[in-house]
Amino acid sequence: MYVLKFGGSSVADSKCMLNVVDILRKRNNEKILLVLSACQGITNKLEQVSSEALNNNKENSKILCDEIRSLHLNIINYTLKNSRIKRNACYKVNTLCDELENLLVGVSLLKELIPQVMDRIYAFGECLSTNIFYYIALEHGLKIIWKDARNFIKTDSNFLSANILEQQTKEHCKELYKEFNNYDIIVTQGFIGSDEFGHTTTLGRGGSDLSAAVFGNAMSAECIEIWTDVNGVLSADPRLISEAKSIPVMRYTTVKEMAFWGAKVLHPKTILPAIKNNIPVKILNSFEPENQGTIIESELYSNSTSVHSIVVKQKCSMLSIAIDESSKYIEVLTSVIKYLSENDFHLLYSVYSNQSISLIVDGELNDVIIDNKTIYRSIVNAICIVGENFTNNIEEFSKITNSINYCLINNHSKLLGMHIISKHTILLIIDSSNINMLVKDIHQKLI
Ligand code: ASP
Ligand code: MG
Repeated sequence: MYVLKFGGSSVADSKCMLNVVDILRKRNNEKILLVLSACQGITNKLEQVSSEALNNNKENSKILCDEIRSLHLNIINYTLKNSRIKRNACYKVNTLCDELENLLVGVSLLKELIPQVMDRIYAFGECLSTNIFYYIALEHGLKIIWKDARNFIKTDSNFLSANILEQQTKEHCKELYKEFNNYDIIVTQGFIGSDEFGHTTTLGRGGSDLSAAVFGNAMSAECIEIWTDVNGVLSADPRLISEAKSIPVMRYTTVKEMAFWGAKVLHPKTILPAIKNNIPVKILNSFEPENQGTIIESELYSNSTSVHSIVVKQKCSMLSIAIDESSKYIEVLTSVIKYLSENDFHLLYSVYSNQSISLIVDGELNDVIIDNKTIYRSIVNAICIVGENFTNNIEEFSKITNSINYCLINNHSKLLGMHIISKHTILLIIDSSNINMLVKDIHQKLI
């Protein structure tokens, strides 16, 4: 079986929903657990309407509730033709929206919005989108059943950001699996679960990727597919480099490294339950379903050298410290790190010897005064080159560094540091001059 998760932008309106139906229709004879997010923008609206209710702003609250209701009813009206199915779908949406409105009246009266209630409110978004989708799929002849994720995803009672109880979830998912005897597709909600008392919980904003991975793990899926609106993980930020292309296969740790350096990739933690159990995760584009996207594997058994992606972190601070007394370098290093952690600065990288210390910190720092000595900072850019096995093959590695050198010379860039962070990552520290051309050049040469 496969888990397919579609995010909010993939179920935003009637056209998107029909597109998902099309994708499913091409998956003949496969057993699919379909995990859907709320329609795009709805989770934010639920947050807004809750705070309007809390502040007893009846008019705004009413406007927002009406918007939520009509967005879903419009999808039904545009997509469903069969009058019986349409009636049932409208009834479901209206019932859910009435329930939501009642809950919001409660919030207004109590003048209190506790996390437990917020989670119940959040759940309406996913319940609405999955119910509508169920009826649309039904009308298109798919063998589908709707299931409430709260009966399967079991969590602790840490409302707004609950933790999965793996064993209980697995047990409940065994029951869910049995539905595949009668149905090809089970549609359920991302993001929501329930605690031991049956109270609705949520996994934190953006939590439906985690739901997909948890379901996939509990049901031993062959693969988890995260359908979104980009062609997988890209070789660079497309706003910076229009030629950025998708990376066909990559290791989980590479995704983590990219996320660490600020690439806009999915939150690596969310797919960890799948990766830990060697279930591959594919990132696919619902608006370009033919595109191969990216497969993320827990490990890749390859010795070849390749460059996957260039990630740029602009405006970091570099602290360079010369050590007067070489015996003191650990003391100095400890004081600086203590200062950074006390002031919530995020250390990205450090190199030191008993002669000098150099630290790269995320964001723009002021000069630092430690033990009455000023440590001057300079603003720099970090370029992170992530790939495979850079250090395995010295010939391949020198080709890469030669290309980098060529680009540096070509762009008159000042190199402040070049570090092999791991055999899969090279870090370049470049002075703060405009680096866009340099990055374009490196991308073109290496990818
Ligand atoms: N609907 C939720 C959110 O917008 C969860 C998700 O889509 O992942 O945060
Ligand atoms: Mg998301």
